[in-house]
Amino acid sequence: MPRLPRGKKKQRRSLKSRYRFSPNPLLIIALVFLLLIVIPSILVPDRYLFEPPSSIQPNYVEPSLRVLDHRTGQVHNLLLEDYVVGVVGAEMPASFEMEALKAQAVCARTYACKRIEMYALTPNPAHPTADVCSNPNHCQAWKSEVELQRTWGLLQNTRNLRKVTEAVKSTHGQVLTWNGALIDPVYHSTCGGRTENSEDVWALKIPYLRSVSCNCREQAPRYEARTSLSWDEVEKHLQIPIALPVTAELDTSRKSQNLIQPGQKSPTGRLKTIEVTGHSLAASEFRQRLGLNSTWLTWETNSQGITFQTRGFGHGVGLCQYGANQMASEGKKYHEILKYYYQGVEILSGSR
Ligand SMILES: [Zn+2]
Ligand SMILES: [Zn+2]
Repeated sequence: MPRLPRGKKKQRRSLKSRYRFSPNPLLIIALVFLLLIVIPSILVPDRYLFEPPSSIQPNYVEPSLRVLDHRTGQVHNLLLEDYVVGVVGAEMPASFEMEALKAQAVCARTYACKRIEMYALTPNPAHPTADVCSNPNHCQAWKSEVELQRTWGLLQNTRNLRKVTEAVKSTHGQVLTWNGALIDPVYHSTCGGRTENSEDVWALKIPYLRSVSCNCREQAPRYEARTSLSWDEVEKHLQIPIALPVTAELDTSRKSQNLIQPGQKSPTGRLKTIEVTGHSLAASEFRQRLGLNSTWLTWETNSQGITFQTRGFGHGVGLCQYGANQMASEGKKYHEILKYYYQGVEILSGSR
């Protein structure tokens, strides 16, 4: 009988067994790469692969800080996370989306940590006995639990406090950094459609405070506003004498229009300076003295006074709270919101 076929069978079997027990290592590496890297990256959105750290550093010790209540003059010694609950409750409506509240919590915590660091050796000149105060025009707003209860009312208090506390707890210890240092996480209510570059408001270019477009129009109640003031009120608040033409021969409406003139503008359209009877005033100062919503403004005058039309509410730099809430309602996570309004930042957990 011919033996060759049997020999071929043996050869095939030995070849099979060789392939079965000695697979190509490159093939295994390629399969592992496919299973562990390529397929999950297709199935899972980027945001889940690049979540910020969820657990606190093992050596992290929660700092405490001194908080001056500017209404009572009392200084409270608080643990950082308790302070952050009081800031989020005071600075953002509790009805906002959870991811917006979380973004606010990280901002509030970063702000506090930055102040603790800044005033560790030299006390805060405005309030040397405290690291921060509760005045939103100087530091950031803060309310005690009693004040929050008064604000929210008995019926809403339990639910709101639980929601705000959850936002703080779920971001426990997390802070924003740029180039390894804590950032100044400035924020405001409503930008008016586009945030502002820091140098166009405070003359200091900060790399992470860049102008970005913002969709806060949907939700913001103070997106646009009108404010009318008499000339007496303008004079009193600006503390600059405003000479009005009084003789019948002069065209009073045309003359009064010349009393206040727009000066320099930022690329977004906000005013940087305003000319008042020949004096150049920073638009932020002008806005603050007259109690206007923003420096994104135009006006109309007559012999009686002036009517301002403003866009947005606040200085317009950094995170826009109503824009953050809009992003959250569109499904964005808090770290995506933060990285949008603060360009190039990192979120670190319990690093300070
Ligand atoms: Zn302060
Ligand atoms: Zn906005």
